[in-house]
Amino acid sequence: MTFEIKYKDARGRVGILKTPHGRIKTPALMPVIHPGKQILPVDDYGADLVITNAYLIYKNDLLREKALEEGVHNLIDFSGPVITDSGSYQLSLYGDVQVSNQMIVEFQEKIGTDIGTSLDIPTPPFVKRERAEKDLEITIQRAKESLEVRDKMMLNSVVQGSTYLDLRSRCADILGSMDFQVHPIGAVVPLLESYRYREVVEVIMASVTHLPDSRPRHLMGAGHPMVFALAVALGCDLFDSAAYILYAEDDRLMMPNGTYKLDKLQEMPCYCEVCSSHTPDELRGMAKKGRSLLLAQHNLEVSFGEIRTIRQAIIDGSLWELIEQRCRSHPYLLDALRILKNYQEDLEKYDPPYKRSAFFYSGPESLNRPEVYRHLKRLQQIPKKNKVLLLPPSDKPYSQHIAAISGKFYGTKKGNFENSIIKKLLEPSEINLPLPAIKDIQIVVVDIPFALIPLELDQVYPLAQNESPTNYDEDAKEMVRKVLQNYIYNFEETVISENVLKSFDLDLSNLDLEKEFQITETVILGVEDLDRIVYIADYQFGYGAGRALFNGPIKVVKSRKTGKIRHIYLDGGEGDVEKLIATLRASDGVFVLASEGARRLHQYFPYPRNRVVINQEAEPFARKGKSIFAKFVINCDIDIRAKDEVLIVNEDDQLLAFGKSVLNGMEITDFNTGQAVKTRKGGF
Ligand SMILES: [Zn+2]
Repeated sequence: MTFEIKYKDARGRVGILKTPHGRIKTPALMPVIHPGKQILPVDDYGADLVITNAYLIYKNDLLREKALEEGVHNLIDFSGPVITDSGSYQLSLYGDVQVSNQMIVEFQEKIGTDIGTSLDIPTPPFVKRERAEKDLEITIQRAKESLEVRDKMMLNSVVQGSTYLDLRSRCADILGSMDFQVHPIGAVVPLLESYRYREVVEVIMASVTHLPDSRPRHLMGAGHPMVFALAVALGCDLFDSAAYILYAEDDRLMMPNGTYKLDKLQEMPCYCEVCSSHTPDELRGMAKKGRSLLLAQHNLEVSFGEIRTIRQAIIDGSLWELIEQRCRSHPYLLDALRILKNYQEDLEKYDPPYKRSAFFYSGPESLNRPEVYRHLKRLQQIPKKNKVLLLPPSDKPYSQHIAAISGKFYGTKKGNFENSIIKKLLEPSEINLPLPAIKDIQIVVVDIPFALIPLELDQVYPLAQNESPTNYDEDAKEMVRKVLQNYIYNFEETVISENVLKSFDLDLSNLDLEKEFQITETVILGVEDLDRIVYIADYQFGYGAGRALFNGPIKVVKSRKTGKIRHIYLDGGEGDVEKLIATLRASDGVFVLASEGARRLHQYFPYPRNRVVINQEAEPFARKGKSIFAKFVINCDIDIRAKDEVLIVNEDDQLLAFGKSVLNGMEITDFNTGQAVKTRKGGF
């Protein structure tokens, strides 16, 4: 396989695709080159690869002869990777083409195409099911045939199936099991042209969730920068653009937020070279040909600029913020963003849990992001204490800003008063506080967008690294109300601050709260170090990890500067690397394992939990602390997420090393190139 992933965010990936004519950084945009008619040197604008049409070359005697003699790269004057399409677009336009599948695949190989395409049938959206099924059979048949015909050429195999999602998935399953290198997702142009972005999302998701993760996907015909970010976030890697020239010839300027018509412009709303050096009047005054050329330049620059913006967003971990911005530029894109809610479970598996940038709340759609879904799911997996104290949000990290509380509270009390939170709050001097020293009280901050944040987690990503407006919208309040009502249901005793009720419009009667009381004497809150580190480990690695890691005598070392927990050693081992269990990373508040921690986790969790299993060949390299390449992996925990701390073992489950995963469990299993785990330390 020839594709590897460097960075991930949402379902998007920044990757490298290797072809005979060079490496391509993905996501990538391929300008469509019309053979014999190209007007712009597209490589000057950042094109690493281009796509051209083998059928148009084939049916023109002059072009065909030249291509056969000099190769397609010379024919279109482009030295980088060239993808060719097979004529299926012409087939969809004219119903018939004068070439067989076998002939066009052979021809593509002969003219030196890097990635060729079989003659699939692009079934339009919303046709009768019988037709979609019949077309699909032929598409799959021709894909199989293309494998027999090709020699060394890399091959595209197009996912079809119209708007029947089960057909798309079935097609992806079948093609994915065969030896293709790239998978275009076909026949979405009619959906894009009619702004049916919601259906585009459904078609993409039905396809990518059934395609191998290790192959790039090309969203065919999606050439408008408006949709790039969304499509990338769903797992598309390649785009082709004939749009830059078609829009230019129609006097239209593409922008990431939409399209401008030149005849309506008094100002050039862009800062590219063309727009900064021409006025709309000047452009309108030009001859058609010269004007189209300039507008095509603008369209290319904007399109490539958007691709670079997307790649940077993936590297930064801010792709969700980007798509939330982009999807606000058209109501139907907003529709598409909103139905991502239906794919939360899948998206959560691909979205890295730890990112370089903070979570920005940009509106109710942010509540559907995988980070929120993941947080609430992980909370559920940690057994609850008996009693809960719910507090309103403060500045972050919460524990530093709500160290002391007073004011009006409400509570339920099913147990006896002697042991109740209410009693502890009302008579704080009676025992030696801080309050959570009483082991069965869970202190939770209620906030947007994560709803419930146990105080132990108040420095963990993204619970500390997020910003939302202080003026809550109705959807956010409603979400918090629902989550909170479910959460407190099982507690023996709930005490809630009046400010929580007010902030989220909570109804006392729905919460089954009755007792009202006023705390006049300030109560000191806090989290004990051991409680904090056990809770974080359970949250990060799964329930039980905390006790396993920090069992027995340990010593917690804090940063002198910030006072935050830094290292956890076996008792008496401070500064001794051999006795270091784990380090709490300052940037995101989660654990980085040390050797002793890896050993303990390995002992506690059964095989293959948290593990990446490598073959014998790679064992010595792993022991030396060298990073693990995907091709050496023979098994792994499918629930691993990208950036998780993982254990590296051999087939006998002997611990060899540990490190940080680059990919998620499904990707590790599927990929055969590139790094799977960045090893921190071997030496076992
Ligand atoms: Zn411009």
